[in-house]
Amino acid sequence: MTASTRQIDQPSSHPASQETISQAAQNQAPPLTGYNLFLSDPTLSQAVDREGAGWAREQISELGRLLGTEEAQRWGFDANENKPVLHTHDRYGNRRDEVVFHPSWHQLMRTSVENRLHSLPWVEKRQGAHVARAALMMLTTQNEAGHTCPISMTFSAVAALRAEPELARRWEPKILSSAYDPKFAPAEEKPGVLLGMGMTEKQGGSDVRANTTRAERIGRSREYMVTGHKWFCSAPMCDAFLILAQTAKGLSCLLLPRWTAAGERNRFHIQRLKDKLGNRSNASSEVEFAQAWAHLVGEEGRGVQTIIEMVNHTRLDCTIGAAALMRQALVQAVHHARHRRAFGRLLIEQPLMRNVLADLALESEAATLLMARLAASFDAREGDERERAFCRIATAVAKYWLCKRTPVHVGEALECLGGNGYVEESILPRLYREAPLNSIWEGSGNVICLDVLRALAKEPASIAALIHELQTAAGADKRLDGYVAALRERLNGKANNGSLHGYGVAEYSARELTERLALALHATLMLRHGSSQMAEAFIASRLGGQHGKAFGTLPPEMKVEGLLDSLGASLAANR
Ligand SMILES: Cc1cc2nc3c(=O)[nH]c(=O)nc-3n(C[C@H](O)[C@H](O)[C@H](O)COP(=O)(O)OP(=O)(O)OC[C@H]3O[C@@H](n4cnc5c(N)ncnc54)[C@H](O)[C@@H]3O)c2cc1C
Repeated sequence: MTASTRQIDQPSSHPASQETISQAAQNQAPPLTGYNLFLSDPTLSQAVDREGAGWAREQISELGRLLGTEEAQRWGFDANENKPVLHTHDRYGNRRDEVVFHPSWHQLMRTSVENRLHSLPWVEKRQGAHVARAALMMLTTQNEAGHTCPISMTFSAVAALRAEPELARRWEPKILSSAYDPKFAPAEEKPGVLLGMGMTEKQGGSDVRANTTRAERIGRSREYMVTGHKWFCSAPMCDAFLILAQTAKGLSCLLLPRWTAAGERNRFHIQRLKDKLGNRSNASSEVEFAQAWAHLVGEEGRGVQTIIEMVNHTRLDCTIGAAALMRQALVQAVHHARHRRAFGRLLIEQPLMRNVLADLALESEAATLLMARLAASFDAREGDERERAFCRIATAVAKYWLCKRTPVHVGEALECLGGNGYVEESILPRLYREAPLNSIWEGSGNVICLDVLRALAKEPASIAALIHELQTAAGADKRLDGYVAALRERLNGKANNGSLHGYGVAEYSARELTERLALALHATLMLRHGSSQMAEAFIASRLGGQHGKAFGTLPPEMKVEGLLDSLGASLAANR
């Protein structure tokens, strides 16, 4: 025990120790509460209007206000400090297979379900619905990321479930309901249900064709008995799961509910919960299926093709999640720097700190623009072939790059708070632990880059759509024009001789190519929708080579001063 702690632990009548105890905290930033996450983010706000989601402004703004309150911020901390608890058996030894969550988890879930984050584009069949939902998700993830896992899976499952129209007809009304009911009961007894996903097994997650779980058909029906396991199965209290299992015709997609059609507990046994780096509010489990009852979804033997529709939507959510984590980290860093003084000035007035913050802001802005453009392509793809092709390739490119940038970005933002950033109460440690996850699940980095190659090689329309997109800013900046011309040559050349896919040089360079595609997309969007200063700084630093390997290495001639001031001003104005 040091002398100073001894002083505090053992009250004495010595006047100096009284003074130590009563000293007020000096030079500390006030907590960032009572601000509107949406109104303080002009880039997101403009994207909502631009992409046709203006009709949802009021709802988005109201959620932005709620999530910035001290109360809602507390839900996020409580849900992560009080991890979910698994009860495998009851007191008599019967299987229970239930996970108990903190009340704050339920509050977060209820808020998201009532705001239709799990259903909006399926319910509101109008222009901008995906963008509206993306904005809502972006705000929610900034407050608490863990609970968005079941929200995202429920939303995404609808896309795959529709491959089995009769099943979709029965389940969709409950899935799309805005009623959150955490009760562990058959779906028929609940006003609303949630869905999860089970693909990853012990021997392989990326390579799902190695799945060993078996599904045996019951008579001539489309019902099966499933035996096997899943090594990762998040949110096991969902009401049903889309899983992959081997049938007589190969890997197939099945809907496996927690309760059988006869109203009995399905033989879905939760073995244990994962002890994870982050994402702690959410339960991720290992499960065994012991002759569990399930229903086929889509064509037997074409399970990957069926479930990929779900995966594409969860990949969109990974990009939203990445943009959200970067935005929240940036906001916290700027807020701190606006209040903390060092060496006679506010941190935000220190030239080197301005460089770091401006660089982080550039990255965050680029991420928000790209995720909004991607969400818009999900809206537009229904009636537009080019948008469909763009959506296909851009999902993979954006998922890879935004998720790769997040841990570096959040780590740097954390350091802007100094020691305070390393302390849980600041939220930065939670963001930092969450940061690598979006890159791992729904296709890890390498797998996504190989998917980019696959799309380029097998779907030539995706090359044309990508090039078309990159040319929407043609003529605005010579450096970007040159960069795009080189990319176009590379894509067309390789696509023509078929060398983009397969083993060898193309695979070896898949990350490098994907990164270039992402940077070109970022720059194009910056030129079209960002301020001219931002676009110039982004292109010079990210495409023009005027940048180091770390954040905070923008060259001095770049005028991004106004950017930080307006960021700070919009935070202050929306409190
Ligand atoms: C918190 C958490 C929750 C999860 N929840 C779920 C869930 O609910 N449902 C579910 O199904 N899964 C879930 N997962 C599993 C996740 O989707 C997998 O971990 C992921 O797909 C990777 O699979 P893997 O772990 O088997 O790694 P592997 O497939 O063994 O891959 C290991 C590494 O090798 C790389 N790699 C693989 N193939 C190649 C190749 N051909 N060339 C080059 N590199 C390659 C990968 O990119 C990765 O970096 C969860 C994971 C986490 C961390």
